[in-house]
Amino acid sequence: MIEKQPLGLVHELQALADAPAVIRGPQCSVGALLDAVGPNDADALRGALDNDRVTARAIADVLSRHGDPITAYTVARHRRRGDSNGCRCPR
Ligand SMILES: [Zn+2]
Repeated sequence: MIEKQPLGLVHELQALADAPAVIRGPQCSVGALLDAVGPNDADALRGALDNDRVTARAIADVLSRHGDPITAYTVARHRRRGDSNGCRCPR
């Protein structure tokens, strides 16, 4: 496939670098939400986060309906907290 355009790849990679930096604070929006909600809600949310059968997207949809929009990516990143590709929330 010599037809492929390497230029497009360069452009897209440069766009990544130009995108606003992801704020790597102590907590992601999922962690902040866990702190903000009541203990019952926090327990339920932790249970969903720890349940492999509940998808990040399903959690994100529910959270978004009840408050600020949260993406499945953010939920998945929170699930990887502590890992190199996860958020910085405490484990
Ligand atoms: Zn987090």
